[in-house]
Amino acid sequence: MSQASKGAPSSGKTLQGQCLCGSIHYQMQGPSESFSVCHCTQCRRQSGHQWASAQCKDDDLIITGDTLSWYRSSPTAKRGFCSACGSFLFWALDGEGKTSFSLGSLNSPTGLRLEKHIFVADKGDYYATTDDLPQKD
Ligand SMILES: [Zn+2]
Ligand SMILES: [Zn+2]
Repeated sequence: MSQASKGAPSSGKTLQGQCLCGSIHYQMQGPSESFSVCHCTQCRRQSGHQWASAQCKDDDLIITGDTLSWYRSSPTAKRGFCSACGSFLFWALDGEGKTSFSLGSLNSPTGLRLEKHIFVADKGDYYATTDDLPQKD
């Protein structure tokens, strides 16, 4: 694994995750990046709170199971969830060739660390962001 940069961990092992009911399993065959907590309204509505995710290349992502549904949440992006248990697993921007996956759906231990907060300008008024990670509007 060549990306051993600044504490941002793409651990050398293969990350694996699943939805709550176990119908959908996925794994990454390559490095992940952008370990973020998103505070945007869409992520909060879909996840129930802020959404922690990381990103990998579509070519490195293997998804198995037949209950994955995609919801087109904007003209340029879609959100993947399990139609059996409702777990919010994926987010993908059209044409980017990458998929974001929810850190909460990974099997532990992940060996990962969050890097930043994003869309903080849209965050809910019912909580404070109290850690030292960088915040981006
Ligand atoms: Zn499920
Ligand atoms: Zn978001």
